[in-house]
Amino acid sequence: MADADPGSLQGLRSEIDGLDAEIVRLIGRRLGLVQRIGGEKSGKPAGFRDADRERQVLERVDALAREIGISGPLARRIFSEIISHSLSRQVALVSGGEGAGARELRVAFQGAPLAQGHLAAQKYLAALGREGRFNGFPSFPEAVGALTSGAADLAFLPVESTAAGSINQVYDLLRLEEVSIVGEETWRVDHCLAGPAEVPIESIRRILSHPQSLEQCSVFLQSLRSCEPVISFDAAEALRLVAESGDPTQAGIGSPEAAAAYGLVVLRHDIADEEENHTRFVALARTPQPFDPRIPCKTSLILVTRHEEGALLRCLEILGASGLNLTKLESRPRPGRPWEYMFFIDFEGNVAEEGTVAALDELRVTALYLKVLGSYPAKAGAPQAKLGDVRPPAGKSTAPVATPSPAPPAARRSKQYKLAGREARSEDTVIRVGGLLIGGTGFTVMAGPCSVESAAQIEAAARHVRECGAHVLRGGVFKPRTSPYAFQGLGFEGLDLLASAGKAYGMPIVTEVMALEQVRPVSEKADILQIGARNMQNFNLLREVGKVDRPVLLKRGLSSTIEEWLAAAEYILAQGNGQVILCERGIRTFESATRNTLDLSAVVVLRERTHLPVVVDPSHGTGRRAYVAAMSWAARACGAHGLLIEVHPDPDKALSDGDQSLTFPEFAALMEGLAAVPPPRRQ
Ligand code: PEP
Ligand code: MN
Repeated sequence: MADADPGSLQGLRSEIDGLDAEIVRLIGRRLGLVQRIGGEKSGKPAGFRDADRERQVLERVDALAREIGISGPLARRIFSEIISHSLSRQVALVSGGEGAGARELRVAFQGAPLAQGHLAAQKYLAALGREGRFNGFPSFPEAVGALTSGAADLAFLPVESTAAGSINQVYDLLRLEEVSIVGEETWRVDHCLAGPAEVPIESIRRILSHPQSLEQCSVFLQSLRSCEPVISFDAAEALRLVAESGDPTQAGIGSPEAAAAYGLVVLRHDIADEEENHTRFVALARTPQPFDPRIPCKTSLILVTRHEEGALLRCLEILGASGLNLTKLESRPRPGRPWEYMFFIDFEGNVAEEGTVAALDELRVTALYLKVLGSYPAKAGAPQAKLGDVRPPAGKSTAPVATPSPAPPAARRSKQYKLAGREARSEDTVIRVGGLLIGGTGFTVMAGPCSVESAAQIEAAARHVRECGAHVLRGGVFKPRTSPYAFQGLGFEGLDLLASAGKAYGMPIVTEVMALEQVRPVSEKADILQIGARNMQNFNLLREVGKVDRPVLLKRGLSSTIEEWLAAAEYILAQGNGQVILCERGIRTFESATRNTLDLSAVVVLRERTHLPVVVDPSHGTGRRAYVAAMSWAARACGAHGLLIEVHPDPDKALSDGDQSLTFPEFAALMEGLAAVPPPRRQ
């Protein structure tokens, strides 16, 4: 074939093709050099990201571009992408996940093929030097479902966009599902208008796209007269439909990549209202992935603060004093808790660093609930710390904190727990359950039958205990019975009965969970999860209730020491759930006059050793209804924060624990007597 005439259209195009090939080769050479630097860096203790160097490179290309009359911001944008890609390659090199032999990753995303999520996932894997098999799902929960079921290795989901903020549905999944963030990627959204043929934009009559894309291009759309926006479930899908129609009066809004794939002509690029429109994606895996501390990482958290003035500030001070730079802070309503909030936080730090671990420990005692979503190599946002910055060690907070902890009495410091101890927190923990505050100076009465037996039984019990002034309704639906032939509880059906009785009489409910798989579904309906005496050292169960944002009533084991009990509480706290209420319910001794020996001295010991609320269960503590009222009054007098009492409409017919259940008149008398007991003098 003869060479094209250099001045002709064909000639110019082939010259452009030659230049493009040269640009790609040059990027390849640049990456090769970067890899060599990566090799050098990995041997040194310094971090990977050199903020000063990056700034200089961007300034240089910006200036160079302007000198020859092209856009400085364009040059910056191109080079930011190249730098970010280079960094990922270095990270991949150190993490050892790259190259031949590495298995193909199965990646789940939301949307049709070539949707933004698909393109961003491809970019993410390419930067890691990994091959992927991509699978699009109609919804975010389905993409996460593919991950949790093992059908995918990664789920790749958008968490925020610079135009519209956080994507709440994805944050809800991060909160509820047991998945970890192992990476992030940014994607610059080019909303382009594309159609089957090169036609004047004014001749377009219908424009198809995802509702969010249509909204983000509203200024452009309003500028077009007699043109109808049409909603489609996905932008890539919209372009596919437009291509299929072949109708030149139809166009779609989507990515240039999808337009090209469907053979459409781009009629205009960048039609969004916001010029800079980026989406941030996260890569989720089933388990956390450790990253070398030299790799600049971000850590993401979900945090619920205490019900105290300045609580959020105190949490942020911990990060600040530890030199952990905050990159995101957003508040969201706490599900099922009107007018309460939780916070989504990102900071620059890695859980592989001691300083970050110490700061997270400090946060766990300062916050009421903390879920670490993961530490992963940072990509979004400019680097803020300079290379070689010396960070003060975390955990040694020097910032002024409103209530400093007193020095612990050396003899009493336990190695088995730290978050549960008074040393970690001098003030009492107060746990909020709806409008109710448990702990501190409050006194909370939880009452109801041992087991939920029927709608009528739980309804009658709820009405009576409420009328007498109880605050929380109790009722077992999963029952730990000594004999397998005894009544085992009504299960989830019973939970629904308990929940509707609680709602009808305006009381939060507490019920026991016995198995791992009960924890999440029960926490959707119950306000407080009870861990029974027999499960006090069921460590897997303790870890599981430590992961949900629900208060936990932890009963003392039948023959557990106070120290063992606090170490059990520590399992829950260490997972991030600081909402633990301890419940003394009697221990096994040689004494047989009572079912158990109610150890009220445990209350005073606990009040000294821990900041957690302590309640007393005199029903199981004595096993005899005649002794319950006196022990209740004594519990209040010695400093307990509340009671757990079994009450039944007809104790003689109770399916469990009838002997220790109070009749309605007995409970009314107990409550009256209680009002006469002066609260203890608090030191
Ligand atoms: C209960 O509260 O009904 C119960 C079974 O308690 P414990 O675990 O203390 O025996
Ligand atoms: Mn019972």
